[in-house]
Amino acid sequence: MKRSFSSTIIIYHEISNNTVDDRYVFCIDDIRSHLKLIKTKKILSLTCNELVQSILRNKMITNSIAITVDDGHRSGYSLLLPELLKYGLNATFFITTDWIGNIDFMNRYEIRYLSDHGMSIQSHAKTHNFLDVMSYNAIKNELLNSKLSLEDIVGKEVNFLSIPGGRFSREVIACAKEVGYSAIFTSTPFEFYFCDNLAIIGRLGLKRPVSHAFYNFLLAPSIFFVWKEYLKSKGKVILKKTVGGDIYYNLWKYWTKRKQS
Ligand SMILES: [Zn+2]
Repeated sequence: MKRSFSSTIIIYHEISNNTVDDRYVFCIDDIRSHLKLIKTKKILSLTCNELVQSILRNKMITNSIAITVDDGHRSGYSLLLPELLKYGLNATFFITTDWIGNIDFMNRYEIRYLSDHGMSIQSHAKTHNFLDVMSYNAIKNELLNSKLSLEDIVGKEVNFLSIPGGRFSREVIACAKEVGYSAIFTSTPFEFYFCDNLAIIGRLGLKRPVSHAFYNFLLAPSIFFVWKEYLKSKGKVILKKTVGGDIYYNLWKYWTKRKQS
């Protein structure tokens, strides 16, 4: 399995009008400054479709970024979309379909609106439960059901899957391939490889406060930053194996002040 590094792909989750404790929730002012930087430095914003096409053609686009937004929180529609449109940038929204229409989450009309305004809508599974501990049939239900629901909403093909919690296995890959996905997006920064002809593409999850190193990297990409983030993420995998999934999950929740998984 030949591994290499992908383009820069970042993950946001939720956006608010004010700064809150949860390190995964960004204040809209911070997001605005990220987007402004991307725009003024002429960094090309790609949807995941464009990114995957460039990978398949073996022509990685330099000086580019793909913005992804996981979960389907309503702030993606109410706060982020107006800023994306203002700066003429694209993003890919990975939606957990059981949460559609729940309080604080987008409804089907809002998701359709994003799609109609140039954003890519893709799957973040059905329930957001960890896929690596499910039976094959349960994984299939998660992946197929969410794909069909989203295709029904946006009237376009849904070919990409973002893995809840970044946790997957060979069975998840086989199942994703069987139900028609062409790429899965993980939370291992910059990682990229093919497994059974399915592209496995890593992303950098952003948490507050964003480091100066990240801003410097946006302005002048360096392989040092790529390796640092990649190895940091692999270190977390080792920690998880050492202390066990439950303890790791509780440590992660404490450290990030995350309310939701
Ligand atoms: Zn998620």
